[in-house]
Amino acid sequence: MINLILFGPPGSGKGTQAARLVDHYHLTHISTGDLFRYEIGNDTPLGRQAKAYMAEGRLVPDEVTIGMLRNKVESSGDTQGFIFDGFPRTLPQAEALDAFLAERGESVTGLISLEVDEEEIVQRILLRGASSGRADDNDESVIRNRISVYHAETSPVKDHYAPTGRVRHVYGMGTIDEITERLREAIDGLIG
Ligand code: ADP
Repeated sequence: MINLILFGPPGSGKGTQAARLVDHYHLTHISTGDLFRYEIGNDTPLGRQAKAYMAEGRLVPDEVTIGMLRNKVESSGDTQGFIFDGFPRTLPQAEALDAFLAERGESVTGLISLEVDEEEIVQRILLRGASSGRADDNDESVIRNRISVYHAETSPVKDHYAPTGRVRHVYGMGTIDEITERLREAIDGLIG
Protein backbone atom coordinates (compact mmCIF):
# COMPACT_ATOMS: atom_id res chain seq x y z
CA MET A 1 0.00 0.00 0.00
CA ILE A 2 1.07 3.55 -0.75
CA ASN A 3 0.30 6.20 1.87
CA LEU A 4 1.30 9.63 0.64
CA ILE A 5 0.80 12.89 2.49
CA LEU A 6 0.37 15.89 0.22
CA PHE A 7 1.45 18.79 2.35
CA GLY A 8 1.55 22.57 2.06
CA PRO A 9 -0.12 25.78 3.13
CA PRO A 10 -3.73 26.61 2.25
CA GLY A 11 -4.00 27.48 -1.42
CA SER A 12 -0.78 25.68 -2.36
CA GLY A 13 -2.62 23.52 -4.88
CA LYS A 14 -2.97 20.28 -2.94
CA GLY A 15 -6.53 19.58 -4.08
CA THR A 16 -5.82 20.32 -7.75
CA GLN A 17 -2.70 18.19 -7.79
CA ALA A 18 -4.15 15.35 -5.72
CA ALA A 19 -6.95 14.91 -8.27
CA ARG A 20 -4.36 14.42 -11.01
CA LEU A 21 -2.10 12.15 -8.97
CA VAL A 22 -4.85 9.75 -7.87
CA ASP A 23 -5.67 9.07 -11.52
CA HIS A 24 -2.07 8.41 -12.43
CA TYR A 25 -1.20 6.19 -9.45
CA HIS A 26 -4.67 4.64 -8.93
CA LEU A 27 -4.91 5.85 -5.37
CA THR A 28 -7.79 7.03 -3.22
CA HIS A 29 -7.89 10.76 -2.49
CA ILE A 30 -8.88 11.73 1.04
CA SER A 31 -9.28 15.47 1.63
CA THR A 32 -10.38 16.33 5.16
CA GLY A 33 -11.47 19.80 3.95
CA ASP A 34 -13.73 18.23 1.30
CA LEU A 35 -15.09 15.76 3.84
CA PHE A 36 -15.96 18.57 6.24
CA ARG A 37 -17.62 20.59 3.46
CA TYR A 38 -19.69 17.54 2.53
CA GLU A 39 -20.81 17.10 6.14
CA ILE A 40 -21.63 20.81 6.42
CA GLY A 41 -23.55 20.71 3.14
CA ASN A 42 -25.67 17.88 4.52
CA ASP A 43 -26.06 19.56 7.89
CA THR A 44 -24.93 16.44 9.77
CA PRO A 45 -23.91 16.50 13.46
CA LEU A 46 -20.25 16.31 12.36
CA GLY A 47 -20.80 19.20 9.95
CA ARG A 48 -22.38 21.27 12.69
CA GLN A 49 -19.35 20.63 14.89
CA ALA A 50 -16.90 21.70 12.19
CA LYS A 51 -18.67 24.70 10.74
CA ALA A 52 -17.71 27.50 13.13
CA TYR A 53 -14.05 26.48 13.23
CA MET A 54 -13.77 26.45 9.46
CA ALA A 55 -15.53 29.78 9.03
CA GLU A 56 -12.94 31.41 11.31
CA GLY A 57 -9.99 29.68 9.68
CA ARG A 58 -9.25 27.64 12.81
CA LEU A 59 -8.61 23.92 12.86
CA VAL A 60 -11.41 21.54 13.69
CA PRO A 61 -10.51 19.72 16.95
CA ASP A 62 -8.21 16.73 16.52
CA GLU A 63 -10.53 14.11 17.97
CA VAL A 64 -13.29 15.05 15.50
CA THR A 65 -10.88 15.10 12.54
CA ILE A 66 -9.04 11.90 13.44
CA GLY A 67 -12.29 9.97 13.91
CA MET A 68 -13.59 11.14 10.55
CA LEU A 69 -10.33 10.22 8.79
CA ARG A 70 -10.26 6.77 10.32
CA ASN A 71 -13.85 6.08 9.23
CA LYS A 72 -13.08 7.19 5.72
CA VAL A 73 -10.00 4.98 5.37
CA GLU A 74 -11.84 2.00 6.84
CA SER A 75 -14.79 2.41 4.47
CA SER A 76 -12.67 2.94 1.37
CA GLY A 77 -12.71 -0.69 0.22
CA ASP A 78 -10.18 -2.02 -2.26
CA THR A 79 -7.45 0.44 -3.12
CA GLN A 80 -3.74 0.52 -3.84
CA GLY A 81 -3.30 3.30 -1.34
CA PHE A 82 -4.13 6.83 -0.32
CA ILE A 83 -3.22 10.42 -0.91
CA PHE A 84 -3.96 12.34 2.25
CA ASP A 85 -4.69 15.99 1.44
CA GLY A 86 -5.03 18.37 4.35
CA PHE A 87 -4.27 15.65 6.89
CA PRO A 88 -2.34 15.39 9.18
CA ARG A 89 -2.44 19.07 10.10
CA THR A 90 -1.20 18.85 13.69
CA LEU A 91 1.35 16.69 15.53
CA PRO A 92 -1.37 14.70 17.37
CA GLN A 93 -2.99 13.98 13.98
CA ALA A 94 0.38 12.77 12.62
CA GLU A 95 0.89 10.53 15.65
CA ALA A 96 -2.66 9.17 15.28
CA LEU A 97 -2.07 8.46 11.60
CA ASP A 98 1.20 6.64 12.32
CA ALA A 99 -0.49 4.51 14.99
CA PHE A 100 -3.49 3.79 12.80
CA LEU A 101 -1.31 2.74 9.85
CA ALA A 102 0.89 0.64 12.15
CA GLU A 103 -2.22 -1.27 13.31
CA ARG A 104 -2.69 -2.18 9.65
CA GLY A 105 0.97 -3.14 9.22
CA GLU A 106 1.66 -0.02 7.19
CA SER A 107 3.43 3.32 7.39
CA VAL A 108 3.67 6.67 5.66
CA THR A 109 5.36 6.20 2.28
CA GLY A 110 6.30 9.85 2.06
CA LEU A 111 5.36 13.44 2.70
CA ILE A 112 5.54 15.83 -0.23
CA SER A 113 5.53 19.48 0.66
CA LEU A 114 4.40 22.04 -1.93
CA GLU A 115 6.40 25.24 -1.52
CA VAL A 116 4.59 28.43 -2.55
CA ASP A 117 5.24 32.10 -1.74
CA GLU A 118 2.92 33.57 0.86
CA GLU A 119 1.60 36.49 -1.20
CA GLU A 120 0.90 34.16 -4.11
CA ILE A 121 -1.14 32.00 -1.74
CA VAL A 122 -3.33 34.87 -0.57
CA GLN A 123 -3.97 35.91 -4.18
CA ARG A 124 -4.80 32.35 -5.27
CA ILE A 125 -7.24 31.86 -2.41
CA LEU A 126 -9.01 35.17 -3.03
CA LEU A 127 -9.31 34.24 -6.71
CA ARG A 128 -10.69 30.80 -5.81
CA GLY A 129 -13.13 32.43 -3.39
CA ALA A 130 -14.69 34.46 -6.18
CA SER A 131 -15.96 31.26 -7.81
CA SER A 132 -15.93 28.58 -5.09
CA GLY A 133 -18.38 30.28 -2.81
CA ARG A 134 -16.23 29.20 0.16
CA ALA A 135 -16.75 31.70 2.96
CA ASP A 136 -13.26 30.99 4.30
CA ASP A 137 -11.79 32.03 0.92
CA ASN A 138 -13.48 35.41 0.77
CA ASP A 139 -12.15 37.23 3.79
CA GLU A 140 -8.50 38.24 3.84
CA SER A 141 -8.25 38.17 7.64
CA VAL A 142 -9.58 34.58 7.70
CA ILE A 143 -7.06 33.63 4.99
CA ARG A 144 -4.20 35.21 6.97
CA ASN A 145 -5.40 33.33 10.04
CA ARG A 146 -5.32 30.03 8.13
CA ILE A 147 -1.76 30.79 7.05
CA SER A 148 -0.65 31.58 10.60
CA VAL A 149 -2.31 28.38 11.86
CA TYR A 150 -0.33 26.58 9.16
CA HIS A 151 2.96 28.00 10.45
CA ALA A 152 2.17 27.42 14.11
CA GLU A 153 0.41 24.04 14.11
CA THR A 154 0.84 22.35 10.75
CA SER A 155 4.40 22.93 9.62
CA PRO A 156 5.81 20.94 12.64
CA VAL A 157 4.27 17.87 10.96
CA LYS A 158 7.04 18.12 8.35
CA ASP A 159 9.70 17.99 11.08
CA HIS A 160 7.95 14.98 12.60
CA TYR A 161 8.51 13.02 9.38
CA ALA A 162 11.96 14.43 8.54
CA PRO A 163 13.88 11.72 10.47
CA THR A 164 12.26 9.03 8.29
CA GLY A 165 14.10 10.46 5.27
CA ARG A 166 10.82 10.38 3.40
CA VAL A 167 10.09 14.10 3.14
CA ARG A 168 10.32 15.75 -0.29
CA HIS A 169 10.00 19.44 -1.15
CA VAL A 170 8.44 20.37 -4.45
CA TYR A 171 8.38 23.88 -5.88
CA GLY A 172 4.71 24.75 -6.22
CA MET A 173 4.93 27.77 -8.52
CA GLY A 174 4.55 27.52 -12.31
CA THR A 175 1.91 25.90 -14.46
CA ILE A 176 -0.32 23.15 -13.08
CA ASP A 177 1.28 20.70 -15.53
CA GLU A 178 4.81 21.63 -14.50
CA ILE A 179 3.97 21.11 -10.85
CA THR A 180 2.31 17.74 -11.55
CA GLU A 181 5.47 16.66 -13.35
CA ARG A 182 7.65 17.64 -10.38
CA LEU A 183 5.35 15.82 -8.00
CA ARG A 184 5.45 12.68 -10.13
CA GLU A 185 9.24 12.71 -10.07
CA ALA A 186 9.22 13.02 -6.29
CA ILE A 187 6.63 10.26 -5.88
CA ASP A 188 8.41 7.93 -8.31
CA GLY A 189 11.53 8.39 -6.20
CA LEU A 190 9.61 7.48 -3.05
CA ILE A 191 7.82 4.41 -4.37
CA GLY A 192 10.35 3.17 -6.94
P1 ADP B 1 -7.10 24.86 2.58
O1 ADP B 1 -5.97 23.91 2.72
O2 ADP B 1 -7.10 25.58 1.27
O3 ADP B 1 -7.27 25.79 3.75
P2 ADP B 1 -8.97 22.71 3.16
O4 ADP B 1 -10.16 22.40 2.35
O5 ADP B 1 -7.89 21.69 3.22
O6 ADP B 1 -8.45 24.07 2.55
O7 ADP B 1 -9.40 23.06 4.67
C1 ADP B 1 -10.37 24.01 4.96
C2 ADP B 1 -10.63 24.06 6.47
O8 ADP B 1 -11.10 22.78 6.94
C3 ADP B 1 -9.42 24.35 7.36
O9 ADP B 1 -9.16 25.74 7.46
C4 ADP B 1 -9.87 23.74 8.70
O10 ADP B 1 -10.79 24.56 9.38
C5 ADP B 1 -10.63 22.49 8.25
N1 ADP B 1 -9.74 21.31 8.20
C6 ADP B 1 -9.37 20.64 7.08
N2 ADP B 1 -8.53 19.63 7.38
C7 ADP B 1 -8.35 19.67 8.72
C8 ADP B 1 -7.57 18.92 9.66
N3 ADP B 1 -6.80 17.90 9.26
N4 ADP B 1 -7.64 19.25 10.98
C9 ADP B 1 -8.40 20.25 11.39
N5 ADP B 1 -9.15 21.03 10.58
C10 ADP B 1 -9.12 20.75 9.25
